[in-house]
Amino acid sequence: MEQHYPFVLDKLEYDYSDLEPYIDTETMIIHHNKHLKTYIDNLNKSLSNYKKFHDFNLINIIKMAKYLPFEVQTKVLNNAGGVYNHLLYFDILKKSKITDIKPPLKHALIRDFNSIDNFIQKFKTQALDVFGSGYTFLVSDRFGKLKLINMKNQDTPFSVGLYPILLIDVWEHAYYLKHKNLRKDYIEDFMNVIDWEKVTKIYKDYINIC
Ligand code: MN
Repeated sequence: MEQHYPFVLDKLEYDYSDLEPYIDTETMIIHHNKHLKTYIDNLNKSLSNYKKFHDFNLINIIKMAKYLPFEVQTKVLNNAGGVYNHLLYFDILKKSKITDIKPPLKHALIRDFNSIDNFIQKFKTQALDVFGSGYTFLVSDRFGKLKLINMKNQDTPFSVGLYPILLIDVWEHAYYLKHKNLRKDYIEDFMNVIDWEKVTKIYKDYINIC
């Protein structure tokens, strides 16, 4: 996430086949190597003439995009969002169980959703409710309070002043090869490959700097 222009596609820390049978190898290859790569290439192209942005990380690019000429803002936001959302997505994938949710995330989820089970149910329902292409995010405000929000296309929670802790990509490219039109089945499978240790760390690191 600390990369600067020109952005490059890093290798994943795990194998494309590691998430089988929940997310298939071919989907992982195309998603990472083609979809994310395209966002990276287009982001580099859209920023090539704007040298002031070349030292910014992705979050700052997203936050500062409003200062770019009007005609390039959307392009930069879509592609920087596409890169950020996908880096977070691939970063939080690993076979894991909800018993791996640890404090302080565990306590915050119970505080804000009544129970872990209730949070899981709400997350799945909300991901099913995304209309068209987009994401469901678990986000934190600057006081550590958690909530679920849906965002369209490659929009990010930064645009509404919130910080992403976890997300599920429900664009069809994330599941269509294996799950076809059955997003519900993909969501069920996805729940087995959330790296809760990593998600707990993302939350902990964020509340420590607030
Ligand atoms: Mn995607």
